[in-house]
Amino acid sequence: MPELPEVEVTRQGLLPHLPGQTVLAAAWSGKRLRQPMPVKLLEQHVCGSRISTVDRRAKYLLIRMDNASVLVVHLGMTGKLGIFPPSAARRTHDHLCLRLDNGMELRLNDARRFGSVTVWPGAEAARLEEAFSRSQGLEPFGPDFTAENLAKLAEGRRQAVKIFLMDAKLIAGVGNIYASETLFAAGVHPLNPAGSLNAAQWRRIVSCCQDILSRAIAAGGSTVSNFLGSNGQPGWFQLQLAVYGRNGQPCLRCGQEICKEIIGGRASFFCPRCQPPAARSAGN
Ligand SMILES: [Zn+2]
Repeated sequence: MPELPEVEVTRQGLLPHLPGQTVLAAAWSGKRLRQPMPVKLLEQHVCGSRISTVDRRAKYLLIRMDNASVLVVHLGMTGKLGIFPPSAARRTHDHLCLRLDNGMELRLNDARRFGSVTVWPGAEAARLEEAFSRSQGLEPFGPDFTAENLAKLAEGRRQAVKIFLMDAKLIAGVGNIYASETLFAAGVHPLNPAGSLNAAQWRRIVSCCQDILSRAIAAGGSTVSNFLGSNGQPGWFQLQLAVYGRNGQPCLRCGQEICKEIIGGRASFFCPRCQPPAARSAGN
């Protein structure tokens, strides 16, 4: 499932190819994604307009048009955006295809169809974007992602810090893998109540989270040059994982066996020595 780094890598991969291009026509598969394809809005507000830039908010790509409309794409579980020459045969799960005036095509392929395509028409785009942005959590690279703000959000919360980090309404785009890796790097037990963390722990979580996401984006960035390909696969990278999926293996830091526990329905991995539970870390 694409997490924030994969969506950001997709954005960076599209950036050299889309701005300046006019969308000449849109074709779709006739199958609905998470929502029905907004066919009329695509025809009215995207076709005939020029792409000005590609932004990202949380795990959504915002393809901005020069008529102020915004094409909003979420990749869901299996969505991939790629740029193809028209001679490349369309594939089974290509659900949206935008023909560009340089002769290439932007295609959205999504086997499981949990992705979504939305259009914010120019006249309403600013209002719709503001409401959308308010509904999303803090951007991990945004100015508001600070230890102080996280501590404030966590105040009084007894839920496990791992569940807190993965709540998209609080923090944007930190999924299971990156939450596990962040907590290991920060030395915080995933089951500790979010409201129990001290300022130093939040500071470590902020810097470790940004560091891990940056490294994942950088690792993916090395595949960006291959983005323009016949198969459109940006070739998802393998971040070197320190704790995720390593249960039963020795901790890379202390040698203790890595534990696995299901927290909030998701597999969580941690080192019981490097990430002591709340009672033992009290007073840290
Ligand atoms: Zn350890």
